Amino acid sequence: MAKTKAGKEDTDSYTMKGTKKIVKPGDYVLMRPVNPKRLPYVARVEKLEADSKKNVKVKVRWYYRPEESLRGRRTFHGAKELFLSDHYDWQSAYTIGGKCTVHSFKNYMKLKNVGTEDYFCRFEYKAATGGFTPDRVAVYCKCEMPYNPDDFMVKCEGCRDWYHPSCMEMTIEDAKNMEQFICSVCASNDDA
Ligand SMILES: [Zn+2]
Ligand SMILES: [Zn+2]
Repeated sequence: MAKTKAGKEDTDSYTMKGTKKIVKPGDYVLMRPVNPKRLPYVARVEKLEADSKKNVKVKVRWYYRPEESLRGRRTFHGAKELFLSDHYDWQSAYTIGGKCTVHSFKNYMKLKNVGTEDYFCRFEYKAATGGFTPDRVAVYCKCEMPYNPDDFMVKCEGCRDWYHPSCMEMTIEDAKNMEQFICSVCASNDDA
C-alpha cells in the first residue's frame, strides 16, 4: 500500500461495522444523517484512507436530491433522481449506513423493479452556482418538459411524440385503454 502522508495509508476497502458489506472506491453509499429522521445522504466513494490507529476515513462525492438544489424539485424530477455534485468531503467511514446503486438514466429506465436502494442520475450539479450539466435535455409533450420516469406517458401514432394524459385532457386510465392514441395537434391536422 502506498504511503500518502505520514501515518496515513490508502486502503483498498472497508468492511461496514457489524456486516460483511465491503465498500470500495467507486461504490455508492448511503451516509447516516445527523438527524435520524432525515433521509440518508447518497455519495460516491472516491478514496479510503486509514490512520495509524486504523480509523478509516472516506473521501466522498455527494449526490444532491432535487430538494437540496438551488432551484428545488421540479415537476420533471423523478422520485429517485439525484444530481452528481462537485462537492467532496472527508468523512469517517463509520458514517456509512449502507450501500445503494445510482444508475444512468438509460439503465434506470430498463429496470423491471425499482428497489429502495435504486437511484438514477442524469445531471451533474455545481453546488456554488446551481448550474446543471447538460443544461438542456430532450423535452416531450405539449408542456415541453423533460421526461419524468415516474409519470405515465402515451405515444402519439402520428407524430411519435410522448404525451402526459393530463395534458391531453384524459385520465391515465383513458390513455391505457386506448388502442391507439393521436395527439390533439395530429388530430386537428387530419381534420384539415
Ligand atoms: Zn405534458
Ligand atoms: Zn401527434
